[in-house]
Amino acid sequence: MSESDPGKLDRIVADARRAAAQRERGYREQALKIYPWICGRCGREFTHKNLRELTVHHRDHNHDNNPPDGSNWELLCLYCHDNEHQRQLEAGRGGSGASVAKASTYSPFADLKERLAKKRPAK
Ligand SMILES: [Zn+2]
Ligand SMILES: [Zn+2]
Repeated sequence: MSESDPGKLDRIVADARRAAAQRERGYREQALKIYPWICGRCGREFTHKNLRELTVHHRDHNHDNNPPDGSNWELLCLYCHDNEHQRQLEAGRGGSGASVAKASTYSPFADLKERLAKKRPAK
């Protein structure tokens, strides 16, 4: 079988990356047209000068969900956007369900603490 083209996967990946980048530029521009240039959390106002720091957040965290009316977008400054995702991560960890049992078996810091404790001489 010699149907596999070694450059094919690379091309697919490159195409997907390009498409994602284009899509991102597209929805950002769209969102900036629809919404005032203000962070939805801290109310910071933006101008052309610092517009780079204003980002588009997806309310449902699905970057493929880009309705043209902008209902899934929210303009957030870099800091608030970071916070928003941090909260989401924490909510995910603390949630109930099967994922909790899975998460509790993975605890790198518990082990680290133990090892550090062993290293230190007892006083
Ligand atoms: Zn903000
Ligand atoms: Zn986001």
